[in-house]
Amino acid sequence: MLKIKNYIGGELVDPVSGAYLDDVNPATGDVYAQVPDSDERDVEQAVQAAEAAFGEWSHTPVAQRSKVLVKVADLIEANLDKLARAECIDNGKPLSLAKALDIPRAAANFRFFATAIIHFRSELHTTDDVAINYTLRKPRGVVGIISPWNLPLYVISWKVAPALACGNTVVAKPSEVTPMTAYMLSELCREAGLPPGVLNIVHGEGAKAGDAIVRHPTVRTISFTGGTVTGREITKIASPMFKRVALELGGKNPNVIFADADQDKALRESLRSSFANQGQVCLSGSRIFVEQPVYKTFVERFVESAKNLRVGDPLEESTDQGALVSKAQFDKVRSYIDLARKEGGTILCGGDGVPDSLPDRCREGFFVAPTVIANLSVDCRVNQEEIFGPVVTVTPFETESQVVEYANATDYGLSASVWTNDLSRAHRMAEAITAGTVWINCWMIRDLSVPFGGMKNSGVGREGGEESLRFFTEPKNVCIRVPRGTS
Ligand code: NDP
Repeated sequence: MLKIKNYIGGELVDPVSGAYLDDVNPATGDVYAQVPDSDERDVEQAVQAAEAAFGEWSHTPVAQRSKVLVKVADLIEANLDKLARAECIDNGKPLSLAKALDIPRAAANFRFFATAIIHFRSELHTTDDVAINYTLRKPRGVVGIISPWNLPLYVISWKVAPALACGNTVVAKPSEVTPMTAYMLSELCREAGLPPGVLNIVHGEGAKAGDAIVRHPTVRTISFTGGTVTGREITKIASPMFKRVALELGGKNPNVIFADADQDKALRESLRSSFANQGQVCLSGSRIFVEQPVYKTFVERFVESAKNLRVGDPLEESTDQGALVSKAQFDKVRSYIDLARKEGGTILCGGDGVPDSLPDRCREGFFVAPTVIANLSVDCRVNQEEIFGPVVTVTPFETESQVVEYANATDYGLSASVWTNDLSRAHRMAEAITAGTVWINCWMIRDLSVPFGGMKNSGVGREGGEESLRFFTEPKNVCIRVPRGTS
C-alpha cells in the first residue's frame, strides 16, 4: 500500500513516530494509502528546515524565484491527468471536475503569483516638501499554511504560491483526509528545482500537527482555510502571540433570484452553485431565495433538474456528482437532513437512501443524492449552520428589503449570488448584502487578482492578487527628510 511521506528539507521522509493514519477512498470506503500521523517533532524539523532555507531564498532574485514557481506550474499542467485522478480518488469528486477545475486552477495559482511578484510595487508618499516616504516590503520569514479537504491542491496552492513568491519559506499541513495531491506536489517541487527547505509539507491531524504549527514561535504568519470553529481555536493561540493570521472560513451563502432574471441561466447556475463538488465548496449557494411570482415554477424545474443529476462513480466521465469526502462528512450531512424533517421541512428530492445510479463497487461509498428542502423558517438551524454537502433550501420572498434581511440573517458573510436584469437593483443588492464577494448574474467567476475573503464569521483578512502579496510581506516605512534650499 502506498505510504505518503512528509516533505522536509527537500527530502521525502517518514514521520518521527513511525505512525501512519489510513487514507480512505470515499467512493468505495476502502483504505488505499497511509498518511503520516505527524506530531510536534516533525513540525519542529520542518520549521528548522524552513528557517535554514529562508536566508538564501529571501535573497534569491525575484526573477529566479519566479522561474522556479513557473516551472512548478508547468509540471502541474504536464501531470494534469495523474493529479486529477489522484484528487478524484482521494476526495470523491468527479474526475471531470478535478480535470477542469482543481488541477488547472492549482497551476494557475502558481503561474499567477510567480508573475505577479515581478510586477509588485511598493508605495511612495511625499510629505509636502519636507520628506519622502517609501515602503520596503520584505518577506516575513517562516509561514504556516493549513488547508482543508474540499479543494485540496487548489487551496494549498492558493496560499503556498504567493508565500513563496514573496520570498518566505513555508511549513504547510494539508488535510489528513485528502493528502495525496500535496504529496505529489512535493515531488513536483523537487523536480522543478525548488531549493531544499523552501517548502515543507507535514501531513497529519489538525489537532496535532496543525496545532504544533500554530503554536510554534518561529512561525509568525499563518494562512488558514477551513471551518469557523477551527479558525476560532487558531485565533485563541495565535492572537496572544501577536501572529499575523488570515482566516478563510465557512459560509452559508444566499442565492437570490428575482422574477425579472433570466430564469434559465439562474436555474442552470443555481444547480451548479448548490451541487458542484457535492456542495462542498465554501462558496456554495446553500440558501436559495426566489421571488414569489416565479417561486413555484422555479422550484419545480429546479427539483426536476436536481433529480436528473447523475450521482455515480467519480471516475466515470458521465458522473455529475461523486461521493462526500468521508464517513464523518456523510454522517454530518445526513444528520442535517434528519434535522430538516424535525424542523418541519419538506424534502422535495434526495434525502436518505443510496442513489440507484451507483455501480456495485461504490455501494459502501459516502454518497448523498442532491437534496432540496422547502418550508423551513429562515432562522432554523438548517438555514443557519453550514452543512457543506449537496443540500439546499428554497424559500419564497415578496420584496427586495425582505430578501436582503433573509440574505443577511446568518452569522456568515462569505459570498452571495444575485439574479436580476434590473441594473439599479443589482447595485443596491451588492451594496446591501454583507458578504466578501457578491456575484451578479453569475457564480464562481474567480479572478485571481481580486480581494477574496469573508465578513462576520466567514473570516478575517483578504487574500488574492496584491492582498496576498501584502499579507505575505512586512511593510517598513523609510522617511527621508528633504533638505530645504541649497547649501
Ligand atoms: P477544518 O477546519 O476541520 O480543517 C481545516 C484544516 O485545519 C485541516 O487541515 C485540519 O486538519 C486543520 N485543523 C483542524 N483542527 C486544527 C487545529 N486545532 N489547529 C490547527 N489546524 C487544525 O475544515 P475542513 O477540512 O472540514 O474543511 C471544510 C471547511 O473549510 C468548511 O467550513 C468550509 O467552508 C471551509 N472552507 C473555506 C474556504 C474559504 O475560502 N473561505 C474554502 C474552502 C473551505 P485535519 O483535517 O487533518 O483535521
